[in-house]
Amino acid sequence: MDKQVGFAAPDGCYIDGAWVSSSSGCCFSSINPATGEVLGEIPSLGASETHAAIEAASRALVDWRSRTASERGQFLRLFGDKLGEHCEDLAHLLTIEQGKPLSESRGEVSYAQSFLYWFAEEGLRLYGDVIPSHTKDARLLALKQGVGVCALITPWNFPYAMITRKLGAALAAGCTAIVKPAEQTPLCALALARLGEEAGFPRGVFNVVTGDAATIGGAFMASDVVRKVSFTGSTEVGKLLIAQSAATVKKLSLELGGHAPFIVCEDADVDAAVEGAMISKFRNSGQTCVCANRFYIHESLYDSFAERFGAKIAKLKVGNGLSSDTQLGPLIDMAAVEKSARHVKDAKEKGAKILFGGASADAGKQFFQPTLLGEVDPSMRILQEETFGPVAPLIRFSSYEDVIKQANDTPYGLAAYFYSRDVGRIFSLADGLDYGMVVANSGVSSTACAPFGGVKHSGYGREGSKYGILEYVDIKYLMIGGLASNKDGQ
Ligand code: ADP
Repeated sequence: MDKQVGFAAPDGCYIDGAWVSSSSGCCFSSINPATGEVLGEIPSLGASETHAAIEAASRALVDWRSRTASERGQFLRLFGDKLGEHCEDLAHLLTIEQGKPLSESRGEVSYAQSFLYWFAEEGLRLYGDVIPSHTKDARLLALKQGVGVCALITPWNFPYAMITRKLGAALAAGCTAIVKPAEQTPLCALALARLGEEAGFPRGVFNVVTGDAATIGGAFMASDVVRKVSFTGSTEVGKLLIAQSAATVKKLSLELGGHAPFIVCEDADVDAAVEGAMISKFRNSGQTCVCANRFYIHESLYDSFAERFGAKIAKLKVGNGLSSDTQLGPLIDMAAVEKSARHVKDAKEKGAKILFGGASADAGKQFFQPTLLGEVDPSMRILQEETFGPVAPLIRFSSYEDVIKQANDTPYGLAAYFYSRDVGRIFSLADGLDYGMVVANSGVSSTACAPFGGVKHSGYGREGSKYGILEYVDIKYLMIGGLASNKDGQ
């Protein structure tokens, strides 16, 4: 593949099958978080281009929704194939724009691809119902129909996968879409647009706009043509979108912040728990909304867990994600570095012990050391807020009733993890944890075939799985009455 695939941005954003630049001439920079290098200047679109994209998606809807699910699936499969063909270049682009190590970037490309393939198939199974009728002369049907034009607002931490998880479902359901990627990772989104163009989607079926989030988001939210917004990002912006959606009664799905507990029970396999903790905490340098943020360790194995976890953490290689041995890349910006530093400082001042790390790393100004804190307690900020960085706080517990209470003592409810080999305990913890995703004996659970999403302030709606496509359909009730007057074949 042409190495330039990810650098199409200077040609503009992707609207109605064409590459469109900003009418105001305004641009913003995409910056490599590991080096500070400017990767490209990206058009900063405004309300007028956003309206053009909405109109394009609306025009394209007529043809797209009339096609068969099989035809739409064929486009999605071709799109998925393109991601596979260009995996190395996409991974390289992801690492330089977002920072994650190359091995994780390759993993994200195939994870992103899996949603396109999954929803290509799910579209074929978007069955409705035939309902036993309440009257002799009628037939009652429940049909699933695509909601129409969708706006998809995505974050920077999984810039490919968060787009395809939404876009795959929307397009398979017969909707058309406008994607608004995060300002930190526009090149990744525009690279996907380039590959979608190569896959041959009809013009306007999907569009990508970059620029000022509030302006573009405001145009989506005010539009009566946009019938659905799917958003992944902060709880703060999610709540704003809920408020803004009222004026046009828009359908929403929201994947918001998390604050995941990770509980190690007294009957756990400690080595397995340490492995799971490493993955859950340090993937993407701790910058995922399902990253473990609080480690509750049963008092009987607190010391051995802390020692083994600390030994693994000490071996993590921090550096530029392009180096083949790097396991921990940079954080996305200085605000992220400062938040990790703030959480460590606050915990230390309130009596926590720094067991490893605790400061900025030598690799560059946006790097933070993988950090292990011992003897953490609920008065510390790290137990109240999502860190979104490579800091692991350990808390001792002795009672299961109490640990479930502590784990649930947060407005968030996205993912929760625990390690136990006792079947009864597995079910009682699974029942007691107030989270959308509960994971026993693993540090990672995301896959295209399982429902992803939260409860409480972590949002609503599910992505992936057979449920994900339902977020993009309306149920239409069709009643056919007057059938008694047709006497044929009595
Ligand atoms: P984070 O703090 O992780 O960057 P945000 O919620 O700020 O999370 O961003 C997630 C996505 O939401 C990004 O694409 C961002 O541009 C977009 N966004 C931010 N503010 C708004 C807004 N007011 N309206 C619509 N989208 C927004």
